[in-house]
Amino acid sequence: MGFQEFLGNAETVQRLRESVLHQRIPQALILAGPKGAGKYTLALMFARLVNCHSPTESNGLPDFCGVCRNCTRIAEATDLDARVAEAVASRDDLRETDKKETRILLQPHPDILIIPPDPPQNLVKIGQVRQVIHNAYYRPPIEGRRSFFIFTSSAFMKEAANSLLKVLEEPPPNCTLILLSENPAEMLPTIRSRAMLHRLGAVPVETLEALLATRRPELKGPRRSLVARMSHGAVGRALGFDVEAYLASRQDALLILKTALRDPDFSSLFRTTETYKGGADGQQKTLNLIRATNALIEDMLMLVAGTPQLVRNQDIAAELTQLGSGVNLDWIDRAASALAEVEKGMRRNLLRNVSIDAMALSLS
Ligand SMILES: [Zn+2]
Repeated sequence: MGFQEFLGNAETVQRLRESVLHQRIPQALILAGPKGAGKYTLALMFARLVNCHSPTESNGLPDFCGVCRNCTRIAEATDLDARVAEAVASRDDLRETDKKETRILLQPHPDILIIPPDPPQNLVKIGQVRQVIHNAYYRPPIEGRRSFFIFTSSAFMKEAANSLLKVLEEPPPNCTLILLSENPAEMLPTIRSRAMLHRLGAVPVETLEALLATRRPELKGPRRSLVARMSHGAVGRALGFDVEAYLASRQDALLILKTALRDPDFSSLFRTTETYKGGADGQQKTLNLIRATNALIEDMLMLVAGTPQLVRNQDIAAELTQLGSGVNLDWIDRAASALAEVEKGMRRNLLRNVSIDAMALSLS
């Protein structure tokens, strides 16, 4: 465990570790880069480094242990999508009046607050920044040395951005704000100028494949390539990618698309969707199915757009080409919103198989 797990962007990693070595930890930091560059992973690693109970050393620079109580608790936020989905689901269970007041925030550790864009608009909202302000000025770190506030998106509502600016103008002591951004140009220039900016590049597919060859030797040829492509250049995702589960979901996703586009006989689809039940297992299985269907639809978009080299499911590219012939952008749009509906229904705890069937019907 430690920074050796972080592949690529060595210069940025080194600068961050040096800031801890020289005790000049930035008060505001922007990590900019494409999806999969490791912005969030690096932010969590930095928070662990600063708050680790028994920091170690590697290559002459401080490193985090990965096993102390602070390190392990901060690491609980690693699967951002899953933690946000849980927070959104529990908000959906609240009474209408409370729902309006509740903003999505993750707090894996008393001194670490993670601020994802708040659905359904997927923007950072004023209520979220107010909570940050409250914690930053009135709640000094309790169990760690320094508080961290990690904004996972730089898409802010206007008044939220203005409030954040006030924090940056009078930075509270013992805390670091980290803003993750795919596009720093969308931030207020006054925010950008008050933060230290680091740009991260995505890890190329070939580098990921080489890493997988040594770290997951059981993955051969096309499977290794599939995992590398499905991971969006993200090392952590590639190392943990459950290819068997994905292939099972993909098979069902293909059946949905075939039923919708080619074969209006729904009996085999119904047999399959019957296996999608309620409970936590069923929820995960349905989520995997939605993600797999999304991946196939994105690939079909790449084929329609004439960029087959960007198709991630290369091993079934021929099948997707055949399936996608006659599909247009309008259909792809409708398919994406139908998927979003199923996900929403899942949060409302509708019978899962019913909503999957409804999705397939609406696409045909
Ligand atoms: Zn530690």
